[in-house]
Amino acid sequence: MSAKILYGKEYADKIKQEVKDYINNKNVGLAVIIVGSDPASQVYVRNKAKACDEVGITSTTIELPEESTKEAIIAEIHALNNNDNISGILVQLPLPKHLREFEQEILDEISPKKDVDGFLPINVGKLGIGLDCVAPCTPSGVIKMLEMENIDFNGKNAVVIGRSNIVGKPMANMLLKKNCTVTICHSRTQNLKYYTKNADIVVVAVGQPNFLTDDMIKKGAIVVDVGINRVDGKLVGDVNFETVKEKASMITPVPKGVGALTIAMLLHNTMMLDKRK
Ligand code: NAP
Repeated sequence: MSAKILYGKEYADKIKQEVKDYINNKNVGLAVIIVGSDPASQVYVRNKAKACDEVGITSTTIELPEESTKEAIIAEIHALNNNDNISGILVQLPLPKHLREFEQEILDEISPKKDVDGFLPINVGKLGIGLDCVAPCTPSGVIKMLEMENIDFNGKNAVVIGRSNIVGKPMANMLLKKNCTVTICHSRTQNLKYYTKNADIVVVAVGQPNFLTDDMIKKGAIVVDVGINRVDGKLVGDVNFETVKEKASMITPVPKGVGALTIAMLLHNTMMLDKRK
């Protein structure tokens, strides 16, 4: 039997409705700083602004020139930290090349109370020790979706492939908090299939098309594909969708999967920060 396909929009719409109900004419602001003119980043920032409009969050996009200095970006962050109309701040990554080495230094200037991406060490730490916090949007969205599907996480074997700070690591922490037995795999993992074959839940966040194939999973596994890759002008994930869907019990497609959840969680995180103001 073919897997249930988990379309992100269905869950994202419910998350957005919750945010909409909260906003209800309140003035809640999200500020996005974008430095330079990377076309993909510009699309992401436009989509974020559009999503804010949909739920009634006031979005402010601060566009800074490619050649901006670290100090100029930090000055903008400080102004936003002190602006009571702004509940959440994010700096669109990646920064232009000359600023990459200062990335953490720049992000660290965001007030932890406005850290809508949950990237600051204090918020990463809170997630790590299981405290209530605003956490990175993509893994938070995955958990919300699985919760809405009433997945019983208790004691399940979960394998996360990828250990980035924005997806893999927080995903693993969240699954651990849900009482899964969690294994994190990465590029140095030996015999990856040994781990994935034993997993009830597999989250793939690698960034390589066709990375997870049906021979790597057990029958009935839940497969979440975080990857976004462009192949011959088409978007594909990290999972060989056509074959894996015949063996999994649930699977997210790409496109129309996790991407919609990520943006909905950005709105949800903005709401959470506003509630705590
Ligand atoms: P990243 O920082 O490049 O991390 C990729 C991870 O994959 C690394 O931990 C790397 O291991 C691991 N990896 C690479 N080759 C591997 C291999 N052969 N076997 C096992 N692991 C391997 O990427 P990211 O930011 O986490 O993003 C991952 C993917 O998700 C990308 O396609 C990205 O575009 C997508 N993404 C989607 C969303 C969304 O909203 N849907 C959000 C964020 C990211 P090492 O650490 O050892 O190098």
